[in-house]
Amino acid sequence: MQKGKINVQTENIFPIIKKFLYSEHEIFLRELISNAVDATRKLQTLASLGEFKGETGDLTIEVSLDTKTKTLVISDKGIGMTTEEIDKYINQIAFSSAEDFIKKYKGKAADEQNGLIGHFGLGFYSSFMVSKQVEIISKSYKKGPGSKAVRWVCDGSPEYAMDDHDRKERGTEVILHLADDSLEFNDEHKILDLLKKYCKFLPVPIRFGNEKRWEDAEGETDKDGKPVRREVEFPRIINNINPLWKQKPADLKDEDYKKFYRELYPYTFEEPLFQIHLNVDYPFNLTGILYFPKVKKYVDMQKNKIQLYCNQVYVTDSVEGIVPDFLTLLHGVIDSPDIPLNVSRSYLQSDSNVKKISNHITKKVADKLEDLFKNSREDFEKKWDDIRVFIEYGIVTEQDFYERAKKFCLLKNTEGNYFTLDEYQKKVEAVQTDKDKQLIYLYTTQQEEQHAYIGAARERGYDVLLMDGPLDNHFVNALESRLEKTHFKRVDAEVTEKLIPKEEALPSKLSTEEQDSLKPLFEDVAGKDKYHVQFEALSETDLPVMITQPEFMRRMKDMAALGGGMNYWGEMPESLNLVINSNHPAIGQLLQVESAEEKTGRIRQLTDLALLSQNMLRGEELTKFISRSIELLK
Ligand code: ADP
Repeated sequence: MQKGKINVQTENIFPIIKKFLYSEHEIFLRELISNAVDATRKLQTLASLGEFKGETGDLTIEVSLDTKTKTLVISDKGIGMTTEEIDKYINQIAFSSAEDFIKKYKGKAADEQNGLIGHFGLGFYSSFMVSKQVEIISKSYKKGPGSKAVRWVCDGSPEYAMDDHDRKERGTEVILHLADDSLEFNDEHKILDLLKKYCKFLPVPIRFGNEKRWEDAEGETDKDGKPVRREVEFPRIINNINPLWKQKPADLKDEDYKKFYRELYPYTFEEPLFQIHLNVDYPFNLTGILYFPKVKKYVDMQKNKIQLYCNQVYVTDSVEGIVPDFLTLLHGVIDSPDIPLNVSRSYLQSDSNVKKISNHITKKVADKLEDLFKNSREDFEKKWDDIRVFIEYGIVTEQDFYERAKKFCLLKNTEGNYFTLDEYQKKVEAVQTDKDKQLIYLYTTQQEEQHAYIGAARERGYDVLLMDGPLDNHFVNALESRLEKTHFKRVDAEVTEKLIPKEEALPSKLSTEEQDSLKPLFEDVAGKDKYHVQFEALSETDLPVMITQPEFMRRMKDMAALGGGMNYWGEMPESLNLVINSNHPAIGQLLQVESAEEKTGRIRQLTDLALLSQNMLRGEELTKFISRSIELLK
């Protein structure tokens, strides 16, 4: 028997490993199974090269838990290790990598670690996070002297013992004697959950005990001639060793992708809209499938639906920093050995490989969308309401994406028609013919509430865009800064007459003196502090009184409400205009009314009607308005 001490300087390594890795203890299982997979794949490689002769046999990796003795065993039929190899890989190398880790992270705040520790790959030694003793029993595939099976055992102190063992089969068995503070892992459901989380797509079959299924018993029928059903035990295989993203896109049908989507998200009932199969091997290695999910409501969108794998080993479901922010809303899988996993998120963003990967994914997504648009505009328009949020998010946040997306980004008007940016520009230019002036794009954020304003604009031959999406606030700003000479105005930003400035203004039917005599009366009724009262010479068919919200101020307040860090604007009082149409007969008639009481009554009614058409008349004021209106009918 060989006894040894791993390294004097590492005296305190285990308590530190335990402490630092606390939040991610479960990682040990992934690490040990990854080692078993590696050993198996190495054997397969040797066999294919002819360096290993003979039968490889069934290579299934077996995980078993004995809850009575509190032991968890991971057993593979891979290349195995000789005594020398254990000495080298386990006693020396693995330990020094654990030590490196400690040196690097000792003394740092534990919080900082959470994001990266799990990715560090402490490998074999992570088993000590959950074990009071770990045994390795291994037999190498190599023949000849020195190839006897070996048993290594260590109780978590730097001392280990190593001895020959009588194991006959090739492969390695790692036996964990679970520690008293880690008995959460002495639970079949827990282990099953972890296996499903980390091992679902590993390339070597992994078995965890048996499962029962109901099957027709062969050749047996009941009295009605129906086959007899029996409960049969099967080996419980955890994983799909050939996941779809590893297969050739040319061999796959749409239905295969849909099936795989259900495999990834068994609890999601919606089908994806479409998908993008990623497959790159130069200048970096990347495979994966990204799905555009069908999400009607923005609040349903989740940022952690893309799973990141490294050679089919699950790593994380947080891909921030690896794909551009707007694509984190997609679903699917990304698998790349070229993403550095043992570094912090902030470092990832500066890594040139990661930048390339992120650019590549953006490009692929843009390609796919452009294809869909070119292949069938009709289909694309049908999908638009579901995908616009991704595209708008991309346009708002990524200049590169905008350069691509401007070809297929659509604008929808209140009539439900779709236009590309170019098409819409031409449409507006046809009406707003002054080439030197800015083009004004009119829009509404609430088709119902701004109905009167939309109607007024359309009556004058102006088109109105529907901007009622969750990101449209930002989207409007982004388009303004990216399109030349284009300005967006919400339909209620000004009276319709003034939304799109014209050369000739209508003459006013009221003199300045007459306007001045009415103005204070309106100010008294509406509240001088709340509304800025002004006269405009509009058409007789326009409303007599209107409420407008200047575009700039309203947008700033909207942004502040979204939490854009612009509290200054949020605290500004509402800036509203009460616009009186000096050409409307109802306003002219006010001058003829003798009784002060009646005049005020009419002004109140006119003002309330304006509020009503903006959906701003509520509560007590609304009730009063209704009783007053009924009085008028008596
Ligand atoms: P890593 O896997 O990152 O190299 P580990 O600490 O997990 O680090 O393992 C160290 C080495 O021990 C491995 O590189 C491998 O050579 C060897 N090893 C670990 N587990 C096995 C196993 N199940 N079968 C064969 N060799 C193994």
